[in-house]
Amino acid sequence: MSNLSSKKITHDVEEFRFSQFKTQIIISLLRLQSSVIGKEAMESKPTIPQLKQIALQMENKSAQEVLRWAVDTYGLRIGLASSFGPEDVVLIDIMMKINKEKTRVFTLDTGRLNQETYDLMDTIRKKYAIQIEVFFPEQKEVEQMVQIKGMNLMYESVENRKLCCEIRKVHPLNRALSKLDGWISGLRREQAITRTHIQKVEIDSSHDNIVKVNPVADWTNEMVWDYIHKNNVPYNKLHDIGYMSIGCEPCTRAVHPNEDPRSGRWWWETGTHKECGLHWDDSKQSKK
Ligand code: SF4
Repeated sequence: MSNLSSKKITHDVEEFRFSQFKTQIIISLLRLQSSVIGKEAMESKPTIPQLKQIALQMENKSAQEVLRWAVDTYGLRIGLASSFGPEDVVLIDIMMKINKEKTRVFTLDTGRLNQETYDLMDTIRKKYAIQIEVFFPEQKEVEQMVQIKGMNLMYESVENRKLCCEIRKVHPLNRALSKLDGWISGLRREQAITRTHIQKVEIDSSHDNIVKVNPVADWTNEMVWDYIHKNNVPYNKLHDIGYMSIGCEPCTRAVHPNEDPRSGRWWWETGTHKECGLHWDDSKQSKK
């Protein structure tokens, strides 16, 4: 072997070792950063009595102020539960403007969503350069359910529909929240009779007393769409063809402009309590 090729091999080996060293340093820094973020958040986590006080103070604050408090207090220990409705995309945009590094977004993929919703997820992911954590239902639970009840069980009874929501939405949400100290939602009071009493900051007794933050609780539909248009925020294209509130494909349809926005969800059911269980607080014996 010539001197030249032997020098080249030595150089290549050194370069390889150096790149391994750099990778190790980066991994260590990332671990350190995540443990510091977690530690900071844990140390500054308010107690339940403190949260009750904070909740009163936050009622008069803007969505931006509420979100800033949430991310400053909990960091990556709080996440936005996004179904990519208009309120959720507004919240993502605001959070990214407040602190991109502390913006955590997760979603529940029921396996029955519209293609337009998946398209929007990818648009958001690319526009903001963020990762979206996706939680799927447990495979065994879905398999057993559809083997016994069929693929379209939701149309057969309210009980069946609630079972499907429980397995495809509620259980994955519980799994997502078990890793967090709090969650953020796009609930608004005027959306439904079941949501008129929500507060901007709540203690979620259904999920181990973690904090639940509803920054746009007092926003109107007009305020949401005004924000979307003024800030050029991507939204679900189904809204352009009459869909007001979008859930799973088999359970959502377009409504007329003067109809109740929620009337396009589970339209074959009657009654006022059309919820999937994600925002139900058993301990209070009432819908939130
Ligand atoms: S909204 Fe419909 S398809 Fe989606 S989980 Fe509930 S019942 Fe199942």
